[in-house]
Amino acid sequence: MNETAPCSLPAHVLRQKLDKQELSSRSLVEAFYRRIESVEGKVHAYNTLTKDVALTQADQADQLIAKGESGPLTGIPIALKDNLCTKGIRTTCSSKILENFIPPYDATVVEKLRKAGAVFLGKTNMDEFAMGSSTENSAFEKTANPWDLACIPGGSSGGSAAAVGADEAVMALGSDTGGSIRQPAACCGVVGMKPTYGRVSRFGLVAFASSLDQIGPLTHDVRDAAILLNAIGGHDPRDSTSVDMPMPDLIGTLNENVAGLKIGIPKEYFIEGIDSEVGAALESAIEHYRKAGAEIKAISLPHTDYATATYYVLATAEASSNLSRYDGVRFGLRIQEAKDLLEMYSESRRLGFGSEVKRRIMIGAHALSSGYYDAYYKKGQQVRTLIKNDFDEAFKSVDVILTPTAPTPAFKMGEKLDDPLTMYLCDIFTISANLAGLPAISLPCGLTSNHLPIGLQLIGRPFDEAGVLSTAYAFEQQHDFHERRPEDL
Ligand code: GLN
Repeated sequence: MNETAPCSLPAHVLRQKLDKQELSSRSLVEAFYRRIESVEGKVHAYNTLTKDVALTQADQADQLIAKGESGPLTGIPIALKDNLCTKGIRTTCSSKILENFIPPYDATVVEKLRKAGAVFLGKTNMDEFAMGSSTENSAFEKTANPWDLACIPGGSSGGSAAAVGADEAVMALGSDTGGSIRQPAACCGVVGMKPTYGRVSRFGLVAFASSLDQIGPLTHDVRDAAILLNAIGGHDPRDSTSVDMPMPDLIGTLNENVAGLKIGIPKEYFIEGIDSEVGAALESAIEHYRKAGAEIKAISLPHTDYATATYYVLATAEASSNLSRYDGVRFGLRIQEAKDLLEMYSESRRLGFGSEVKRRIMIGAHALSSGYYDAYYKKGQQVRTLIKNDFDEAFKSVDVILTPTAPTPAFKMGEKLDDPLTMYLCDIFTISANLAGLPAISLPCGLTSNHLPIGLQLIGRPFDEAGVLSTAYAFEQQHDFHERRPEDL
């Protein structure tokens, strides 16, 4: 094995090597930091590297492994999106306003990973406060797509997707409010899954739009997604939206059998304007499922057209409320030169927030203001119900819904930066699953002639993560897209 070879392996393969003691967690972690050192100058996936923490965790993991006490994640190096609170480790949300914020506690998912013996390599770059689809809204570095450094990695979990795609982490956590796990996963050729709303505790996730946010895995393959989701999911009394249901065994139920499975193809998702190579890859994926014995059914989700507008009313409204806590008083940036309290508030926010975040706060505050509330926020909630009803209706006749993850592969950096509306359209296929609270996965299903990854999205019934994962696994196991890596990184 060459020096960085273990870095491209999924966690379930590394597990065997670690348990057989062919490899120690410490040597694995060291290999990852060598890999990071060699490519990070080009990719910029991380805001913060936590090598000291990682080596300590690796040594503890090695002791457990030696005693035969390992679990699926013991000693596995993981990257964390920089909006997940990590005790004693800077958590910035890629915003100047939180540039020096060190949380006094761990998010529940972080605490669970610590207990599972995982190793934290660092915190990954993102669009500021998770608002964006390209990671270009970070107040810090611009993360590059490992497949083409001139392209964006997607967003907002672009750092997490790029870290896994560039073999700078075995797996990563991201958050998904309107597509922020799935769209970057598609751009970077990795698997990304948004669980059902309520499946994973959001305690300690810095809130963007609380009725939509979910935390989920970004991994090399479907089995790893099941492993990571199994580790972070389940009820948490500290998040009242987390559902009090036992976490199913997503690993044991993983299977390739799709015979008789009813897969719905919504006509509203196969529209003009989709990139032709994306369209062709999707057609051949559908054909694959048909040949494997699935029943392919045309369906309609008639309110799809309203999803983006609805999302941008509701998400901005919730964001304007959530982000009011950054006032320079309790945490984050505080401007010292202000002449009075009001100026301190407004200057801290003016200098601390980037322009996209300000735009969203203004749109959201407007949507919630008296006189406009009924026309925007209330109307948005009503349309959200219609969108959810479309899915309820569809799931009476199909088990899972198949769509592209994004209408195009990764685009060039800078291309959409001055045009927020085109940027917002990156999420037309991912947003509805958030509005309806449904589990959805993106997995690699092709490469364009320019060697850019293409993503396939599968959306399932509420809490049917097992069905979504197995449907994805059935495709993955017959293809090698998950094993491809960017060639000239
Ligand atoms: N790209 C979408 C937005 O800008 C979704 C972001 C997300 O899921 N966090 O809001």
